[in-house]
Amino acid sequence: MAGNTDDISLPESLDPKAIDAAIAERSWLLRFPPQLEAMFERDTGPQRCHELIVRAYIGIIVYNLFAIADLWAAPHLFMTAFWVRVVFFTPVSLALTASLYLSPPAFLRESIMCLGGGALAIGTIIYLMAASGGSPQPSLHESMILVVLFLTVVQRVRFWYLLPVCLACLLAHSLALAEFYAYPVGPQVATNMVFGAGVIFSLVASYTMERDLRLHYLLSLRDRALNSELDRMSRRDMLTGLGNRRALEETLADCEPSIGQPDDFSVVLIDIDHFKMFNDTAGHQAGDLCLKRVAGIVQAELRGQADLVFRFGGEEFIVVLPKTTLSKAIEIAERMRCAIEAAAIPHPAPAAAPVVTASFGIAGTRLGHRLGAVEIIANADSALYAAKRSGRNQVWPRPASLDTIATMDRALRKA
Ligand code: GH3
Ligand code: MG
Ligand code: MG
Repeated sequence: MAGNTDDISLPESLDPKAIDAAIAERSWLLRFPPQLEAMFERDTGPQRCHELIVRAYIGIIVYNLFAIADLWAAPHLFMTAFWVRVVFFTPVSLALTASLYLSPPAFLRESIMCLGGGALAIGTIIYLMAASGGSPQPSLHESMILVVLFLTVVQRVRFWYLLPVCLACLLAHSLALAEFYAYPVGPQVATNMVFGAGVIFSLVASYTMERDLRLHYLLSLRDRALNSELDRMSRRDMLTGLGNRRALEETLADCEPSIGQPDDFSVVLIDIDHFKMFNDTAGHQAGDLCLKRVAGIVQAELRGQADLVFRFGGEEFIVVLPKTTLSKAIEIAERMRCAIEAAAIPHPAPAAAPVVTASFGIAGTRLGHRLGAVEIIANADSALYAAKRSGRNQVWPRPASLDTIATMDRALRKA
């Protein structure tokens, strides 16, 4: 009944603890907290509408089949029943069923079902009882319990909508019996009791089914939340919180189709200088803290959601800059380099610079037309190697040559 909801994404704002709390609470009111209730409706509503429509057609057919009973058991009523069933009930209930194609909100959807499958059916049955002119036709009032069963077991109308409809049915049943059929009091009480028992059992079944449905939904939601959390974790570097190599590969695969257009894609490789010495002198834990800080500094220098930084491995990071010219990438890298230096994280090794620094290698499509991501990263690696060889704590190609690069960028764009 919950439908296949596995492929529906979970909102970031969904707190898995809210799911656990709802499971633990198992509200007897059959209602989730607002966010979960909205998700429940979003995930199950369309499928529910579809199922209601199919079963409504079945219900309409069965209802009309009772014309056979009318013909055999109450021929004097047949024409009236024919008009009531075929000319009135069928088109009206078909119209109500058709409105379900619009996937109305829960309140409307359940009300439509109560109206078409319940009030309309019971109303027409009572009309026929009234029209039977004092010659009781038992199949009429007996069929009222079928209406209750149809709503409860077949359509599984939500409990709180079903409850008033069932109670109204009970009342209508006893009033109609007393008013239109001249049954003695004893059989009348017995008939009402049978009907009442049917209504009570149906309500209990409805409540239990909805409670189980909701619990099942929460359990499947918790599975989905756990899976998506695992999925998120499998793309995160645990130490720095940045995306890992797997996330990088996926991002590059997404970017690949747009790579190859001149000037539209750059990457920056970042490597912390003399980090082995840092570890050897201050210890691995201090090294970890340093990595976290550098990752945070780099992240803070990104321009927006399109720029992405990943841990490339060890003490290396990679920044992916889609739709960014090489000159702009060099400018961003220089900003990052300055920010790392300005953070003044003390470098404990006497042979290194007094503060932690990093070297940057940049490449983009400008360096080779229509290159793939792998080649661009290889070029950035060569640039990084050049930066290391030239003394570290620098960006390569050098920002000093920015004007030249910008001129080349412009020339390339015009070409
Ligand atoms: P260079 O300036 O040429 O880049 O020298 P380097 O010492 O930074 O480079 P090298 O490749 O020789 O050493 C990298 C070091 O990074 C070695 C390794 O212990 C350290 N490292 C790699 N991953 C981690 C990590 O997760 N935590 C810590 N603390 N250290 C790491
Ligand atoms: Mg390295
Ligand atoms: Mg290094």
